[in-house]
Amino acid sequence: MSFWWDALGGPPAARPSLSGDRSCDVAIVGAGYTGLWTAYYLARHDPSLRIIVLESRYAGYGASGRNGGWLSAEIDFPHDARLRQAMTDSVDEVLKVCAAEGIEADAVKSGCLRVAVTPAQETRLRAFAVVAADWRLLEPAELATRVRVAGARAAAFTPQCARVQPAALVAGLARAAERAGVLLFEQTPVTGISRGAVSTPHGTVRAEAVVRATEGFTATLPGQRRRWLPMNSSVIVTEPLPASVWSEIGWADAETMSDFAHAYCYLQRTADGRIAIGGRGNPYRYSNGFDPNGHTPDSTVAALTGMLRRLFPAAAEVPVARAWSGVLGVPRDWRAGVAFDQATGFGWAGGYAGHGVTTANLAGRTLAGLITGSGSELADLPWVGHVGRRWEPEPLRWLGVQAMYAAYRHADRTETARGLGHSTRLSRLADLVSGRDR
Ligand SMILES: Cc1cc2nc3c(=O)[nH]c(=O)nc-3n(C[C@H](O)[C@H](O)[C@H](O)COP(=O)(O)OP(=O)(O)OC[C@H]3O[C@@H](n4cnc5c(N)ncnc54)[C@H](O)[C@@H]3O)c2cc1C
Repeated sequence: MSFWWDALGGPPAARPSLSGDRSCDVAIVGAGYTGLWTAYYLARHDPSLRIIVLESRYAGYGASGRNGGWLSAEIDFPHDARLRQAMTDSVDEVLKVCAAEGIEADAVKSGCLRVAVTPAQETRLRAFAVVAADWRLLEPAELATRVRVAGARAAAFTPQCARVQPAALVAGLARAAERAGVLLFEQTPVTGISRGAVSTPHGTVRAEAVVRATEGFTATLPGQRRRWLPMNSSVIVTEPLPASVWSEIGWADAETMSDFAHAYCYLQRTADGRIAIGGRGNPYRYSNGFDPNGHTPDSTVAALTGMLRRLFPAAAEVPVARAWSGVLGVPRDWRAGVAFDQATGFGWAGGYAGHGVTTANLAGRTLAGLITGSGSELADLPWVGHVGRRWEPEPLRWLGVQAMYAAYRHADRTETARGLGHSTRLSRLADLVSGRDR
């Protein structure tokens, strides 16, 4: 279980499982942000709709209860001004719903910092800051007025990001959906999705519309093994830092933060004064494997601890309190998608490739509009209907991802050791092979 759930005293009391067959207007598979936002907006749009969400474990068991808590405007999709605006609006929409529904998710919109700590990272970051909309370059002195990062050479800042407590967000969202009339069944694994029906060991749910909202778990569903790669990501969180350490580091606000390495890390300052830092660890296990309990190898904990101490030497003595891992869905072209087919009544969203906290809200609103036919401008955004090609079969998939991350790590090590002022050829090759458009 993640620290985020621990901090809430564990997941809430189990909700009932499905018992017997049922029918409804919309059946949703998966109670993470995507499924719950879709259910929430459908119910708010038309309170007469009968909406059922089916969840194999508990609401927020997946990435939605384990992530780094970046409510950011980033989306993996080629630049489009309308999509960018929709993402920016979605950050504010999540905050607005939290306020309206009384969801206490430690949400603070202080922006996001990306920090270069090697010459090669600096070269990439300066090039990024010139072209990236909404990002502004910060020289080290200005960065230090916010956060003092060891060896920082430059940073980029955007105001379009909030820090959240992920599990508090998903738990509050589940309650808000239920208040709006949504029925949520837990401990109910879906074993098959067909036209107008969802099968589980406890019964079948027949529905006019069915939505698959299982992101990183999608590969476990029949026929979906090569749809999205279940990518593992791991996080550690420290014990609360003493005031003396915080005064050395600064970071008085709640900016989210990352470095600019190829295998980058992501950080947040938690509401109770800890640092959470995440990264890819062991990114992919053979044949879509993942540890259902989110166990994190010692080597990953050591690597993340090392990164934290390099960025913040003042925190070197602060113990690590917890480590956990989760899975997120990565499409072959790293581009997220959302779709609903009126003819078959089937919809889906995901493949956010590590940027799902905000994107799931946009997906939920988009799906609700498409399902109810209520026509909104969101339906015309370029990611709607985007389906990338499938991943390669094993063992090519495993070999490819291992090679890609080995290349990124090697590139990061070489750039640091040699003080290179540019990316290595190997990292550019890895970008090419991975299909990543960075
Ligand atoms: C460690 C980590 C850090 C991350 N950090 C960030 C971040 O800081 N910012 C960001 O934007 N994104 C981040 N992400 C990604 C983001 O968390 C996800 O993209 C997002 O939560 C996906 O939400 P979802 O509802 O689509 O999927 P999930 O939250 O994974 O929910 C899917 C649900 O479906 C259920 N399910 C699966 N199979 C079945 C079945 N057969 N039957 C019934 N139910 C089923 C699962 O139990 C799960 O509850 C991170 C992800 C991880 C793992």
